[in-house]
Amino acid sequence: MSVIDLRSDTVTQPTSAMRAAMSAAPVGDDVYGEDPTVRALEQRLAAELGFERGLFMPSGTQANLVALMSHCQRGDEYLVGMEAHTYKYEAGGAAVLGSIQPQPVLNAADGTLPLEILEKSVKPDDPHFARTRLLALENTWHGRVLPQDYVVRAANWARGRGLAVHLDGARFFNAVVASGATPRELAAPFDSVSVCLSKGLGAPVGSVLLGSAALIAAGLRWRKMLGGGMRQSGILAAAGLYALDHHVDRLAEDHARAERLAAGLRRIGSIHVQGRFTNMVFIDVPAEHLRALDAHLARSGVRASIGYLPSVRLVTHLDVDDAAIDRAIEVFAAFFA
Ligand SMILES: *Cc1c(COP(=O)(O)O)cnc(C)c1O
Repeated sequence: MSVIDLRSDTVTQPTSAMRAAMSAAPVGDDVYGEDPTVRALEQRLAAELGFERGLFMPSGTQANLVALMSHCQRGDEYLVGMEAHTYKYEAGGAAVLGSIQPQPVLNAADGTLPLEILEKSVKPDDPHFARTRLLALENTWHGRVLPQDYVVRAANWARGRGLAVHLDGARFFNAVVASGATPRELAAPFDSVSVCLSKGLGAPVGSVLLGSAALIAAGLRWRKMLGGGMRQSGILAAAGLYALDHHVDRLAEDHARAERLAAGLRRIGSIHVQGRFTNMVFIDVPAEHLRALDAHLARSGVRASIGYLPSVRLVTHLDVDDAAIDRAIEVFAAFFA
């Protein structure tokens, strides 16, 4: 029985065509700036999103940390969602390694940070306070595409307050595909964007930080310090280039399959489907059933993220087809029957 793994879109296996592209990639020592495939990936994403330069890194966590450390100095502060990855799920790196203080703001249900709360969160220029320097947003946020009119208003507000604006775009291309906007349109309000290649795009490794030449020059030093200077990393960048060629448009299939899954689960009485957002489905299951559900899913060859979120999270991706979705629905139905 093959396992249907709906925990995350990070679990995908590189396809044989992707592995072939990796194997054929011309490479060099990227710390010397000599890897042509890394450079091609950085330049391609910079051009697509409308930035001067890109910087390839092993993970999204590192790309976000390098961005924060490049925008903010020791004793500075960034405004960030309380449920944002760059605040909650990156081990406190900005504070620990960057000496940057987070100012968390409660996310609204759609992932936005209300402007009136942001306004109250900016500190006056006074030695009592950290210097507020940056606003960090996330798109998609828990699968949700941020309303672009909000993004534009928030970025304009931040500029007016002298703040830079960073986007954690781990699933940026899910937002592009779901909204029908171009990468440039979604990236335009930001000073920097990080994009993950190892989520829905299906590459085994890698994120790219996009920004101005000056920001990326600063980032290059932080990346080296954080241990992200890699050598013949064109092997990895080739997977990213392959993914950009072949795995962007197909994200629409993941979104459609998530909707198919949500529709199937809505027909099961005891499950409350909170919602389907791009490639994610969130469901509420009575707390007393969670452990038994977990065991039932494990026995039945279905994996889900249970418990660490307020609900159950199911994520569709490259390695989940329609038949897998239908089997997952049957497995949930059998538990609640
Ligand atoms: C996965 C993720 C990251 C970090 O990526 P890693 O490559 O796992 O370090 C950052 N932000 C969001 C929203 C993510 O989902």
